[in-house]
Amino acid sequence: MKIETTIQGLNAALAAARLARKTVGFVPTMGNLHQGHLNLVREAKRLCDVVVVSIFVNPTQFGPNEDYDNYPRTLEADSHLLVDEECDLLFAPNVQQIYGEHGSKTRVVVSEIAEILCGRSRTQHFDGVATVVTKLLNIVQPNTIFLGQKDWQQLEVIRAVTRDLNLPVDVVGVPIARAEDGLALSSRNGYLSAEEREIAPEIYQSLVAAQQSLQSGVALQTVLQTIYARLQQAGFVIDYVEAYSPQLQAVTEFDQDIVLFVAAKLGKPRLIDNILVKYQA
Ligand code: AMP
Repeated sequence: MKIETTIQGLNAALAAARLARKTVGFVPTMGNLHQGHLNLVREAKRLCDVVVVSIFVNPTQFGPNEDYDNYPRTLEADSHLLVDEECDLLFAPNVQQIYGEHGSKTRVVVSEIAEILCGRSRTQHFDGVATVVTKLLNIVQPNTIFLGQKDWQQLEVIRAVTRDLNLPVDVVGVPIARAEDGLALSSRNGYLSAEEREIAPEIYQSLVAAQQSLQSGVALQTVLQTIYARLQQAGFVIDYVEAYSPQLQAVTEFDQDIVLFVAAKLGKPRLIDNILVKYQA
């Protein structure tokens, strides 16, 4: 696996593949890799000739009181995991490489779907994500980008960016990788104490119970309230428990496929999760 830290180096490393018209799959990450990330790499390997993974802790998607400075940076261990997955190229630029010496004057701002759910409490977050992913897409020029359904809203935001800006790239969403007890894998799970780690799977368990309730006819608002009460009881500080269509349109009842979304703090970390609930008429 080649490791490049500059755009020039990346272009040189990809030149032969581009010339040979090989398909390039791209997996953007912030590192501290776990099985969720590695599943994206596997899917990229399955569908593309050449796989590029980026590791870049993007400052513009963190709010002023968020964990940018303390975000886990484990490049050495990450690169070993990527070698095991037969990743072709790791792109690990620094902030100056991506934003230039004087910072960036241009931002990609997505309306509506970036303003709901996580966008309400993390107001600049999706602008930062949309901007950096647009830049990375222009740098790597992949045929396909692979993103996790764990960050469902992020996936929809990037789908909107590629559609609205006519970026010539396919977007593939990969299912959520979970621990055995159901907790969605996340780099931020490392912030949980042992006691909190025991409680954390309640999120997924309450989502699965909600899915079953909906499918057996319980009203959507009742189901959302039940999740809220259950998580509050377990000690979570809830940001939101909400339902939207898979494309993030508002829904008031369960009369089509919907996604249930939860964001809640447990001690230090803020955890997010979601579940798709299929509608059978
Ligand atoms: P991050 O490093 O947190 O920015 O995540 C990089 C990519 O990995 C994003 O597309 C995430 O949605 C995806 N990802 C993170 N955790 C998981 C997971 N548990 N399952 C599937 N994809 C994930």
